[in-house]
Amino acid sequence: MTRRFFLASLLALSAPFRAAAAPCTRRILRLKSGAVEEVPLEDYVAAVLPPEIGRAPAAALEAQAVAARSYALARAERHLEDGADLCDGTHCQVFRGLAAATEDSRRAASATAGLVLAQGGRVIAAPFHAVCGGRTARPADVWDDEEIPDLASVSDDACLSAPGATWSFTIPRAAVTALADSLGFPGARFLEVYGHDASGRVSMVRFAAPGGASRVARGFEFRRAALELWGWASVRSTDFTVEETPPAYILSGRGTGHGAGMCQAGAIARAKRGESRDAILALYYRGASVVRLDSRG
Ligand SMILES: [Zn+2]
Ligand SMILES: [Zn+2]
Repeated sequence: MTRRFFLASLLALSAPFRAAAAPCTRRILRLKSGAVEEVPLEDYVAAVLPPEIGRAPAAALEAQAVAARSYALARAERHLEDGADLCDGTHCQVFRGLAAATEDSRRAASATAGLVLAQGGRVIAAPFHAVCGGRTARPADVWDDEEIPDLASVSDDACLSAPGATWSFTIPRAAVTALADSLGFPGARFLEVYGHDASGRVSMVRFAAPGGASRVARGFEFRRAALELWGWASVRSTDFTVEETPPAYILSGRGTGHGAGMCQAGAIARAKRGESRDAILALYYRGASVVRLDSRG
């Protein structure tokens, strides 16, 4: 055996071992079957882009790829009790199998391979949503039950003409009782906005019952309860005003989704007008930075 041939064989042999020494896979819990599927991280990223953002220009797809990869790594312990890292539903990121990847989504994953959003030396669970409606939300105003990144609320004019940028929803007075009931306050007949966070979203909603008893719900709890009762197209965001009429409460709102992190409609509009992936990430994840995993060891 020549020395050159020996080295070549050694390299060929060692490559799979190097890969095996640093397995970058995610175990995905398939909610319907209960099966756990282990998939390479980069294939997973390419597969979640189509259900999460759909067709989009390259810069927006790549920004979404960086966010999805970060989320998948930071939220790896969410389904430990199921023997998985993430589930395949909206609770984590929508995964419909590796075959869901498209040529564009694979290109976006490979163009950003290894890039993640980090803050304080840790990969962040980068949040994203459909449409912010004019201003993103601080994650701390949206969730209080998980470790969340500290991202600034930023103003965004790029999504204002997107579907879902404005909405209205009517809650018949009789339905207020069911909504409050699902929040653990039976008998309520009235509701009012009771507080706003720094970005202007509704942070508190007060329910009242005839006789004077009242209870305050967090804005995101109010929205979650409404979505469970009436679906995603009801209270599309916590950025709304309420008008009271004799038969109903009329909510007029802006944006679709929780509002934290990247606004997907804004990212798509920005990519269309020529903004880069890095500019999009820098805007919506202000407070975090993009790093390459390898360089962090
Ligand atoms: Zn999950
Ligand atoms: Zn937006």
